[in-house]
Amino acid sequence: MQIDKKDIRALSKQQLRDFFTAQGDQSFRGNQVYEWLWSKGAHRFDDMTNLSKNTRQMLEDNFVINHIHVDQMQRSEDGTVKNALRLHDGLIVESVLIPTETRTTACVSSQVGCSLDCNFCATARLKRMRNLNPDEIYDQVVSIDKESRFYHGRPLSNIVFMGMGEPLMNYNNVLSAIEMITSEEGLGMSPKRITVSTSGISKMIKKMADDGVKFKLAVSLHSAVEEIRNEIMPFTKNFPLTDLRKALEYWYQKTKSRVTYEYVVWKGINDDAKSIEALVKFCKYVPCKVNLIEYNPIDDGMFQQADEKTINAYIRALESNDIVAKVRRSRGKDIDAACGQLANKEA
Ligand code: SAH
Repeated sequence: MQIDKKDIRALSKQQLRDFFTAQGDQSFRGNQVYEWLWSKGAHRFDDMTNLSKNTRQMLEDNFVINHIHVDQMQRSEDGTVKNALRLHDGLIVESVLIPTETRTTACVSSQVGCSLDCNFCATARLKRMRNLNPDEIYDQVVSIDKESRFYHGRPLSNIVFMGMGEPLMNYNNVLSAIEMITSEEGLGMSPKRITVSTSGISKMIKKMADDGVKFKLAVSLHSAVEEIRNEIMPFTKNFPLTDLRKALEYWYQKTKSRVTYEYVVWKGINDDAKSIEALVKFCKYVPCKVNLIEYNPIDDGMFQQADEKTINAYIRALESNDIVAKVRRSRGKDIDAACGQLANKEA
């Protein structure tokens, strides 16, 4: 039965080398297998043609190679591609390919569902079912890279952890996946082209700074007024804005990397002068830019995007304080692939 066998991609290169030594074989076999698994993306031991039949059988007896299957793929009229990916245990996560003139971005998931409870997000309704393993995150990137080459004739250029889940609640696995994505044995991508988006888990932002990570940080702020933030993102009652501010100051001090704030402006929620003022003040703590994201309605109309006049008032206030602000239009809305819409509708 497969159930008792370990996923071979949970092993580091050294662990694979040790495994072969323990079998009385030579350690370099570990390197060969590692290369098959990661650089060459082998899904079957039988594909590892530079290993003997006996070795392949021995691996088959001890391990499985878990991998994701594209269960369903949808293409938007704007070129966005959404994949529903089936994991080895039957659960589904989603990932999105977002092409623009100059780049192709993979939006990847870090958890099945999400442990947080942002009221405006479809994924939050699913609750967290489990964390994704490093290889499951890595495979999302590989599959989107293939789609990017196929549909757009160019490799993937950027990755954002803005799919399902809270990446900092699955920190170790996200970090291992990024290590593999950036290593020469994996995809060799620059960490500067990777952005991890968090709802603002202060303790983990500090840890990332201590760990010397080289990727970029985005924080889903949505309000710099404590009571409003608590209302729309209830879990933030345990993560006050002053802690977030201190964590971000620490992050900047250690990494010198500018923070991006993601911010949606909603009618009757954060469309007032006090909210604008609070955001401007918050933006002065560390060098940053603000992405004003278009709201993607998910349900009953509880949240509604504010009008253009209000968005412009935000932009004016930010820019007159020398803070870079951009309006981010949503992509792939017709296939529910935009921010906050990932919720396994077809599962
Ligand atoms: N948990 C992480 C990453 C996933 S959400 C985080 O919170 O950052 C990715 C981004 O989409 C976040 O900025 C989130 O606040 C935003 N988002 C969630 N629901 C949305 C919606 N319905 N419309 C627009 N943006 C949304």
